[in-house]
Order: sequence, then structure tokens, then C-alpha cells
Amino acid sequence: MRVSRETKKALLINPYIYDFAAYSFWSAPLGLLYVGGILRKNNFQISLIDCLEVVEGKRKDDGRAPFIKEKVKNPSPLKVIKKRLKRYGISKEELLRRLEAIYEPDVILITSIMTYWYMGTRDALETVKTVFPKSKTVIGGIYPTLCYEHASVQMACADLVVRNNEIGLFYDFLEENLSVKIKHRPQLYGFEDVPYPCFDLYGSPYFVPLLTSYGCIYRCAYCTTPFMYPTIVRRKPASVIDEVLYWHRLGVNRFVLYDDNFLYDKKNHAIPILKGLGDLPLKLNIYNPNALNAAFIDEEISELLLYSGFKEVRIGLETIDPDIQRQTGNKIDKKGFEKAIRSLVNAGFEASAIGVYILAGLPFQNWKGVKDAIDYLCDLGVRPHIAEYTPIPHTRLFDEYKVFARYPIADEPLFQNNALFPFSWEGFTEDDLLFLKQYLREKIKTYD
Ligand code: SF4
Repeated sequence: MRVSRETKKALLINPYIYDFAAYSFWSAPLGLLYVGGILRKNNFQISLIDCLEVVEGKRKDDGRAPFIKEKVKNPSPLKVIKKRLKRYGISKEELLRRLEAIYEPDVILITSIMTYWYMGTRDALETVKTVFPKSKTVIGGIYPTLCYEHASVQMACADLVVRNNEIGLFYDFLEENLSVKIKHRPQLYGFEDVPYPCFDLYGSPYFVPLLTSYGCIYRCAYCTTPFMYPTIVRRKPASVIDEVLYWHRLGVNRFVLYDDNFLYDKKNHAIPILKGLGDLPLKLNIYNPNALNAAFIDEEISELLLYSGFKEVRIGLETIDPDIQRQTGNKIDKKGFEKAIRSLVNAGFEASAIGVYILAGLPFQNWKGVKDAIDYLCDLGVRPHIAEYTPIPHTRLFDEYKVFARYPIADEPLFQNNALFPFSWEGFTEDDLLFLKQYLREKIKTYD
């Protein structure tokens, strides 16, 4: 291989999405930015187009914000659906304009997150192909990892479609196609050799996600984490503190914990991290949209969450039905859950600042169970959040129940969208779901 000495240019694209409802709950293309950091360490010049722009004027103090949006026509697989699809993020024309304003990249990396967002990824791919036909294109992210065959067909004009555990293939591809030597070749899930994600490309990011671990010891029937990250990999606590200091020097004080299993083996992981963050002479604001596991929350953890800068805490309960709990994950029971709530309140969290996820729309779940969970949580004074079940390929529930879905979820990822309520049945209809959402709104009116 002849190695070229000129600096190679890589463009990262987070595409716009098509969905029925979407809101930025601290969303960020973290994996893409990690790969950008690795390429930068290999002397690439990196640029970013994040199409998922939000309405800045409506951004909340904590960093959440609505995406820019526009109604679009439903494509053919969704013609049967009455709900109208929207594009969230900048338009295709705006993407085209931004592409035309930059130099030709040597390689363009397009991420793809939810399986049912692939149309936005395909749009982005087709658009870059028209502007930069000679640039190499790579598609990665959760969608190709979970739906590789589908992605290989839909993204057939890409030069490489890569799954999350195939970063070695990606390095080889760059060497072969760009005549470069990729000297720094960390495993993406190795952490210690992986540079910080290139969030500086946003200028002054409103928040930065923190990822301190991959994987989970549980095997919940609806969750894709065990498939995506089969083994548990964790960072050294000191490296998490160093990263927070790094971003704080660049003006960031909001951090969003993206971990799935932060509190497991807390003595060696969460406790030193939370202590270290609390000891910093900084005022941090930390949020955790991915729930903490209530089974691991005790007095010490509760106090440290507050000490380190958590403004609110989100935890998972999923259901108060002991049978469903046992069948789906067996993570927690009522006794353990109430103990966790008591610890958090005793530590100083307002009960209404404790958000609790409950699942709605599981296969053959009855709506009354969700109402019971809302009542139970409101009686405790905490804030329930309805999490609509998403059928995700390579999960146990998906495999066991896909034939009972009212849409062909195994053949067409667009139907995996939870906004379509794929497992609606006579015991839990769309009207029941609307009723529950309204019921919850009424119940928590007094909280604010
Ligand atoms: S839902 Fe949470 S506890 Fe269950 S497997 Fe997924 S990450 Fe682990």
C-alpha cells in the first residue's frame, strides 16, 4: 500500500429523522463523535453536519429542546397509517446547501440510530452521493447493527455498512481505500485508548453526554443492551473525572449520563465517580435519561447522586405487576423500589424530582396495569413517565411475539416505531393509551 502524506478529510453526518413524534431528550450522536475522535487522532481533519437541529428559542435550562420539524407525506409502507409523518431536523435542501459549502471529504461517515429512522439515513447517503460522488461513504450505528441485511439493501450505494463491533473492518477499509496508515486502532468499546468524542465540533455544546460503561448484568426481555454490548466494559473512575474537567474547561457544566448499568458494582465504579465529581470545585448539573436501576440505590448512593450534581433522578420500575416484572427482567420488586425512593428523599431529592419509567404497550399487556402503576407512583409522590414499548430486533420479546404484532415488524423496521403501537390489542388499544397519557397529565398537574 502506498501511503499518502496529505491530511485526509472526514465528514461526520448525523442525519435528520422521520418519525411521528420526537423531542431531544439530550440526544447526541455519541458513537459517531467517538469515531470522529479516533480519526482525528489518526491525523484526519474532521467536520460535522448535525441535521438534528433543535429550536434554540425553546430550549429548556436543562438542555432539552424540541427538534425543528415539518410534516411530510407518509411513504408507501406507511400509507395505511392515519398519523402523519414528520421530518425532524433540517431539510434535505439545507443539507445539500451545507454540503455544497464545504471541500470534498475523502470519507463521509453517516450514523443511523433507531431502526425505524433509516429513511433519513438513506436520504443523507443519496444526497452526499450527488454532491461528492468520489468520496467514500460509510454507514454505521445501531440500525445496521440490529438490521444488517435490511441496511445492506437500503444502503446499497454506500461503500461500507458496518456493525458496532466491526471497527477493525472500518480501519482496514480506510487503509485500503484512502491509502493511509491507521496507526491508532482502538477497539471502540475499550475506553482507555479511545479519545474523547469530538464534541468541540459543536463550538460550545449545551451539554455533553458521559459514557462510563457498556453492557449490563441483566437480560431484560425488551432490551437490546445485552445484544449490542454482550460484555461489561467500564472506564477507570479517574478517566471520567478527567473528561468532565476537560469539557468544563471548554465551558460545559451540563452532563448527561448515557450508561445503562451505572450502579452495578457501585463500590468500584459509581461511588468513586460520584465522589470524585462531588469533590471537584465546580457546579455541575447531571441528568440521566437512561434510568438508574432502583435495586442498587441505597442511602450512600442517594447522597452521592445529590453531592455530585444530579438535579433529578430517573429510575426504572417498568411495571408493578409481579408476574410481568419476573417475566421481563426481574430487576426490582415493590419493596426494593420503595426503599430506593425513601433513600433518595431522605438524601434531599424532592419526590417530584424522581422520575420513574413505566412500560406501556408490551405484548398482551392490559392497560389497567399501567393505570395501577401511575396511581401507585403518584401516591408515592414521584413522577411517572410512560415509556411506550419499542419492539427491537434481537430481543427476546421481539422474537417470541413478532407474529402477534399488528404490523410486519420483522420485515419492515418502519413498523418498529413505538408511536404506531405495534402491540395494540383489545385489552390495550390506542384510545386506552391516549386515556392513560391524559390521566397522567391530570395527576401530575399539581407537581409543578
Ligand atoms: S433494561 Fe436496563 S437492566 Fe434491563 S438489560 Fe437493559 S440495561 Fe440492563
